[in-house]
Amino acid sequence: MKLYYNRTKIVATMGPASGKKDVLLAMIKAGVNVCRLNFSHGRPEDHKGVIDIIREINAEYNTNVGILADLQGPKIRIGLVKDGGIHLVNGTQIKITTQECIGNDEQIYITYDTFPQDVQADEIILLDDGKLQLRVISTNRLDTVICEVVHGGILTSRKGVNLPNTKVSIPSLTEEDLINLQFALKYDVEWIGLSFVRTGQDIVELKEIIKQSGKAAKVIAKVEKPEAIDNIDEIIAATDGVMVARGDLGVEMPLEEVPLLQKMIARKCRAASKPVIVATQMLESMITTPRPTRAEVNDVANSVLDGADAVMLSGETSVGEFPVIVIETMAKIVRNVEELGYPFNAAKEAQINPASVTDLSNALCESAVHLAQSTDAVGIVSMTTSGYTAFEISSHRPKASTYIFTSNKQLLNALSLVWGVRSFYYDKLESTDDTINDVNNILKAAELIKTGDVVINTAATPITKQGKTNMLKVSVIE
Ligand code: PEP
Repeated sequence: MKLYYNRTKIVATMGPASGKKDVLLAMIKAGVNVCRLNFSHGRPEDHKGVIDIIREINAEYNTNVGILADLQGPKIRIGLVKDGGIHLVNGTQIKITTQECIGNDEQIYITYDTFPQDVQADEIILLDDGKLQLRVISTNRLDTVICEVVHGGILTSRKGVNLPNTKVSIPSLTEEDLINLQFALKYDVEWIGLSFVRTGQDIVELKEIIKQSGKAAKVIAKVEKPEAIDNIDEIIAATDGVMVARGDLGVEMPLEEVPLLQKMIARKCRAASKPVIVATQMLESMITTPRPTRAEVNDVANSVLDGADAVMLSGETSVGEFPVIVIETMAKIVRNVEELGYPFNAAKEAQINPASVTDLSNALCESAVHLAQSTDAVGIVSMTTSGYTAFEISSHRPKASTYIFTSNKQLLNALSLVWGVRSFYYDKLESTDDTINDVNNILKAAELIKTGDVVINTAATPITKQGKTNMLKVSVIE
């Protein structure tokens, strides 16, 4: 299958609009690299059908589409309300209770047992994506919090609650998350996303559970709380990748701060060679119309220019009317920036410590990118088991295509999220010379490179030991 090959990857959220094989196949042909399963909706078994379809397509069409299982994390909601909706009137008071009840004009239930103990007077409570706002007047520290309605409106059942000022004591992985995590690990999904991450420790704990389960899934920290912004360096250090989850981030932080936060997170992730996804409302109007707004087109293009590894679609592909057209549209925007205005090979902010073996291999990856640029090489061709070299080379945003060969099957699909990387299965590690000739010939047979092209090969020698990358070769294809 001939695929459009975008450097900036596309993540599509799965749902009723995209769960059929023919639709998903058309979306993948149009440019989807990673499918996101949103565990905030549906039961775990509901996601199994989509997992099967993605795996079938990968096997039938030789694609490496990855799966991102997105765990809900400590998301707080209100309970059911009477008549499907109640009217909160500005200036009136309303009780929030931890005793389960059907909400009415006087009280509403919150799914957060220790809320009365954690909250303080004057703190802000945002409901339904920040559309409604309450202010805490008092708490009995047991089960009830009295609030004033600051911005009222109609409140319907099970809406999300954001507490931008409150130190929330709910654990980062809820009981439901742990069940969903085991389900996702059972089916070997490549990426696990954790919502409402607050500290690096949240990620360390998730990784420990994945390791204890004998699995190798990589972790995406969803940055959507002020605390995560405060702790961004330790979160990036602990995680394998980050999502700028602009939906909740734009509720919990002043909206006007989100554009610069996006740039800051993208810059820090690139410096640390960790992929970053920019998410939410990228082509929102395409849920119901086949053409995006001009502002949305700018948002996708600017996110690519900000250095996103991937741009993500949510409702547009899960429940939208145009799941294939939206991918075609996003791919066209990405491609146009990449063809006409992308800052390839732009210097990266990172320091090399000569005493560190890892840093020496990082220096070699950086040199591979420089060498590719100065020799006008069409490709950088590398072998990796851990994926380290792929992440590192990608972070330099080379103009040359990045071809990664690995015998690690789960890594093949995991790398689908990483900027510019195309991965290939390869398990014959013989002598360095033979292996390099072999992988170059595979690329030539696939018509990705041709006679006379220059490519840069990297490897770890001796090749059978699978150590750190320590060798660079300039090859002219025969
Ligand atoms: C977001 O808040 O932007 C986000 C991606 O999270 P979710 O879709 O899980 O609310």
